Amino acid sequence: MRKLSVGILGATGTVGQRLIQLLDGHPWFETAVVAASDNSAGKRYEEAAHWLLETPIPASVRQLVVQPCRPGLACDFVLSGLPSRVARETELELAKSGMPVISNAGSHRMEPDVPLLIPEINPEHLAALDVQKRRLGGAKGYIVTNPNCSTIGLVFPMAALERKFGLEAVHVVTMQALSGAGYPGEASLDIIDNVLPAIEGEEEKIETEPLKILGRWKESKFEDAAIRISALTHRVSVRDGHLEAVSVKLRTAASAQDVAEAMRAFTSPIDELALPSAPRPVMILESHAQRPQPRLDRDRGHGMAVVVGPVAPCPVLDFKFRLLSHNTIRGAAGAAVLNAELLHRKGML
Ligand code: NAP
Repeated sequence: MRKLSVGILGATGTVGQRLIQLLDGHPWFETAVVAASDNSAGKRYEEAAHWLLETPIPASVRQLVVQPCRPGLACDFVLSGLPSRVARETELELAKSGMPVISNAGSHRMEPDVPLLIPEINPEHLAALDVQKRRLGGAKGYIVTNPNCSTIGLVFPMAALERKFGLEAVHVVTMQALSGAGYPGEASLDIIDNVLPAIEGEEEKIETEPLKILGRWKESKFEDAAIRISALTHRVSVRDGHLEAVSVKLRTAASAQDVAEAMRAFTSPIDELALPSAPRPVMILESHAQRPQPRLDRDRGHGMAVVVGPVAPCPVLDFKFRLLSHNTIRGAAGAAVLNAELLHRKGML
């Protein structure tokens, strides 16, 4: 089988590097084009990128010449790790030119015909692409997005509880890793010996994105789930892995054991598709009170699993627990690759 050729937008950045790492040896896809800003365009990738991952730059990518992010890239589809301010116009332009765009950026996530896709949770939201393609005026190009890196971890237990008991309210406090801010991220003198509260724009994303993800595509529009969410975000001095402390209020009575069992029993509509990047199980329940921890748990399921700690009664809402997910894999690059795998299985690439 011919591998599909992939273009990476923002290829020199934190998410771009992860995308290149995850595609190295991928059974269906290969990195054929790397694209970034005009500062990098024209340079060889190994010169342009300040490579920060533990594995070396794949040999097939080192010598690629970085392209500008413009229509005409020689690839079957693009994975985007562009900053939102750039992604808004650039991704739209590429999609209109006939290119499937699978994006990590926030700029198109909440548009009324753009799927905010998590294959294990809402693959049926891809139906919105029919409407989007009509808006963009073409048959082939479109934009599919994945959620914010804290939203994605949170939404797995939310999906399990919403399905089984109904979910009324969620309160979440995040402790987010440094790599979530891209490179170079926070200045060392701001973050060492410190915690930085209120990450710009994050609380609003965590309070709104799950409603779209857990909502329905009905009569050509998205209908939000009816859940109240309150989020407080913090940047902490951890390299990778977002930890979240969560309290939930359910719509029906349950015990802590019932809640844990609902998460353990979570099954995904894509299980039978055997997508190469889909972890089994996608949600891992830990029974030890001191887990999950970023250093110990972020690479579970090759960085694609969400690790949930013990469920306990909450004296204010109903139940509380902690969760952890790898922000640049499950929360970004791995999520985009999984979205591409689902689209390929459905013959949409
Ligand atoms: P980053 O490390 O700052 O990388 C940004 C990339 O975009 C670089 O390759 C940069 O190229 C390129 N770029 C910047 N300005 C450009 C322009 N005007 N035209 C073309 N390319 C341009 O950022 P990141 O952390 O990888 O984040 C990328 C996107 O993913 C953002 O939208 C972010 O919100 C989202 N995201 C990030 C994470 C995470 O954990 N980091 C998680 C989820 C979502 P040069 O090197 O040439 O400047």
